[in-house]
Amino acid sequence: MLVPRAYASRMQRGNRHDPLLLQVLPDSSEQVPVPGFVNDPVGDSQSRQTRGLLHKYHGRALLISTGACAVHCRYCFRQHYPYANDHLGRNLEPALAYIERQSDIAEVILSGGDPLMLDTARLAELGGRLSAVEHIRRLRIHTRLPVVLPDRVDQDFCAWINALPWPVVVVIHANHGAEFDSQVDGAISRMRAAGAHVFNQAVLLKDINDNEDSLVELMERSFAAGVVPYYLHLLDRVEGAARFDTSTELALQLHERLRLRLPGYLVPRLVREQAGAPYKLPVL
Ligand SMILES: *Cc1c(COP(=O)(O)O)cnc(C)c1O
Repeated sequence: MLVPRAYASRMQRGNRHDPLLLQVLPDSSEQVPVPGFVNDPVGDSQSRQTRGLLHKYHGRALLISTGACAVHCRYCFRQHYPYANDHLGRNLEPALAYIERQSDIAEVILSGGDPLMLDTARLAELGGRLSAVEHIRRLRIHTRLPVVLPDRVDQDFCAWINALPWPVVVVIHANHGAEFDSQVDGAISRMRAAGAHVFNQAVLLKDINDNEDSLVELMERSFAAGVVPYYLHLLDRVEGAARFDTSTELALQLHERLRLRLPGYLVPRLVREQAGAPYKLPVL
């Protein structure tokens, strides 16, 4: 189990149903195989092109910047990813050569692991190398650190974002309104002041946010912090995470309730990832 104090401090003491606690607390059921819950539910291994680079969708290459995260989410779809042999590491050449060769790649996505586990000097080195590739138009960063360890979003990091030669998109991963506090608000404000577009993607998680009020509150609270909802994912059926699964019917009902209660721009796209599909599939 790995949880930063900043995140743990937002849990309600003594409440074993706390929605933040449930995201990080190990459970013995994780050891029991469940049919349909597999090692690589989204087909990452099929889209691996070079060490630390996944190319699954048109125009976007994803870098496994590091295997490390600041928090171990029990539902993580990459919890069995072979990070030990497959993250970007110090030798950027194979990934850069691939991106250079594939002139349709307009967007590089820093993912992992959590790219903000790299220090800003390492990020700057990576950004510097990428800036030599002419066909890149955007940089996207998927990170949970602004939420779980908001102090990581420091002046150096924001100065780096601000100085990048492309528009920067930051996608934070928050699943519950209670994950926000004034520290998180501050981290998001700093990134926006540095020019980043900040979006949120969430996972629908049983007993954590699978009810109308929690989801409405998540969208309202994140927007109050300056974040626009992006995706609401159905759970990726990864080995060990079966206890978080919800039915598609419930997901659709909840999504309908969001449409009824929120302005259109606060309704996230309800999607499911299917290995081999050319985009994240809308749930219909
Ligand atoms: C999810 C994902 C993306 C980004 O998809 P968007 O629909 O653009 O958010 C890119 N590459 C990989 C490998 C992904 O899993």
